[in-house]
Amino acid sequence: NHVPAYDYIVVGGGTSGLVIANRLSENPDVTVLVIEAGGSVYNNPNVTNVNGYGLAFGTDIDWAYESVNQTYAGGAKQTLRAAKALGGTSTINGLSYARAQVAQIDAWEKLGNDGWNWDSLFPYYKKSESFQIPDAARAEAGHMTWVVEDHGLNGPLKTGWAYTQANTSVPVTLNTTLQNLGLEWNPDINSGYMNGFSVMPTTADQTANVREDAARAYYYPYQGRKNIHVKLDSLVSKLTWKSGCETPTAEGVVFSSNGETFTVRAKREVVLSAGALVSPLLLELSGVGNPAILKQYGIETVVDLPTVGENLQDQLNNGEAWTVAGNLSVTGGQTYVAYPSFSQLYGNGSSTVASQLKSSLPAYAAQVAAANGNATRASDILDFFNIQYDLILNDELPLAELLFFNSAGSWASQYWGLLPFSRGNVHIGSPNTTAGGLIDPKYFMLDIDTSIQTQASRLARQTLHTAPLASFVGSELRPGANVTTDAEFAEFLKASYRSNYHSVGTTAMMAKSKGGVVDPAAKVYDAGVLPFQVCGHLTSTLYAMAEKVADAIKADQHES
Ligand code: FAD
Repeated sequence: NHVPAYDYIVVGGGTSGLVIANRLSENPDVTVLVIEAGGSVYNNPNVTNVNGYGLAFGTDIDWAYESVNQTYAGGAKQTLRAAKALGGTSTINGLSYARAQVAQIDAWEKLGNDGWNWDSLFPYYKKSESFQIPDAARAEAGHMTWVVEDHGLNGPLKTGWAYTQANTSVPVTLNTTLQNLGLEWNPDINSGYMNGFSVMPTTADQTANVREDAARAYYYPYQGRKNIHVKLDSLVSKLTWKSGCETPTAEGVVFSSNGETFTVRAKREVVLSAGALVSPLLLELSGVGNPAILKQYGIETVVDLPTVGENLQDQLNNGEAWTVAGNLSVTGGQTYVAYPSFSQLYGNGSSTVASQLKSSLPAYAAQVAAANGNATRASDILDFFNIQYDLILNDELPLAELLFFNSAGSWASQYWGLLPFSRGNVHIGSPNTTAGGLIDPKYFMLDIDTSIQTQASRLARQTLHTAPLASFVGSELRPGANVTTDAEFAEFLKASYRSNYHSVGTTAMMAKSKGGVVDPAAKVYDAGVLPFQVCGHLTSTLYAMAEKVADAIKADQHES
């Protein structure tokens, strides 16, 4: 029974996994196997279309994971989208390229991750990126601005604006409108400070006018390397363990393909990057997790680590719509973005809400811990909440994101609170497959999340009612002008929200004593590793993290 062996096995050929596979296979002396559940989508028009957001939803490349009933939001289930394809969720996402704020990456170091801060990550944002500078005429027409020294110009991932994106007078009108509300023009949200209004860059190949996903950036141009092998349409079900090791060490993985089951061995490392909603399940199926949960499925505990699958943080997405009154044409993608701070959302009420929030943190932490069966400790959660509070109030992180666009002939805004306090979890629902995981984000568990989402709604409405935009807007279609009180907004938000598809935290990188799952020399690398939400969209930070991690793995190679 010959078991094939590679130096590295990457489980999940997605956004993060393909970066690692690419960088490790730069060394011709090591072999890399990528095992991906989906197939190639290189020529799939639902993927390549830069203005085709949503086309892939519900197709066979959408995992469309279903949550459990959401207790705090009327009981209904939610669909959490993620892609089953080489390139992972970067093949179906909204293409937004937005990083994070300096202080929130610096906060990772406070959680016990030595060497993880903005200054150490920033070179990797640039390393991953190939920013396509638009010509002056297009930049002026589309109101695109950027700070060139904050971008990489030679990395694998093309960013910028495709020719069919962002080419209208809308940003000027919106910019003046938002300035009237105190939000300044931000020349480049990717420089580490995100507050204000901007025209957001995207992951698009501007010349080819196609989506730039992880496979186009990190795999196809390099597929000729003899030492990288990609196994498509193959579902990993668990890790295998080396025998006789004092510290449990992964030896390989088991996967199925075409109805057959295979085992493959890693001579050096197994890298898990199956996404925040799957990697923790693979750990559990392999005996790493909460013994009480593992026991229910007859799985023997290899590592007692109750926080696996905990700390799940997703955002709430809601939308509003208005009829169009004047002649303001909008074409292209949803790239007009506002990032208001706490004080811009709460205005005169800021100091009252801030002190109420501060005094509520211990009760919130206790509520989160209790709702998760105390797998995470209230004292640890309170530490995170205090850091989060400081980031919001002292470092003035943006608290919400608002996108503005024309949708099927009406004006629309979509918005979400960026830094939810509610935390849920994801655990296995079967003893032998990642399918049917029990996903419970606990949307709206804490009333501060509802309050922030309400203020974002109110700001969207206020924007549409402020000059000069107001003269182009007719009546409010959704939620309707009769929705004004906190209670009315809460009802509307809970009845109409969806997942923002930004799940993080389920294999959090932080000190084990604080409930961390992955240490800084992580063996799991995907969105699950982020200990907190970031204010930008996730892929930019995931590409940068994976670049940094790949360098660390390579440094290990030289030492060993
Ligand atoms: P993924 O990229 O999802 O990779 C995981 C891979 O593992 C997948 O290819 C999957 O098929 C594979 N896999 C899963 N289970 C198994 C298994 N058992 N065996 C083998 N393989 C497996 N971010 C942005 O930056 N900008 C946006 O505009 C944006 N919009 C979004 C819109 C939508 C609809 C969604 C769903 C997400 C959006 N995001 C956006 C978020 C972002 O795209 C994801 O967070 C990110 O791509 C996740 O990367 P990852 O490496 O963690 O996982």
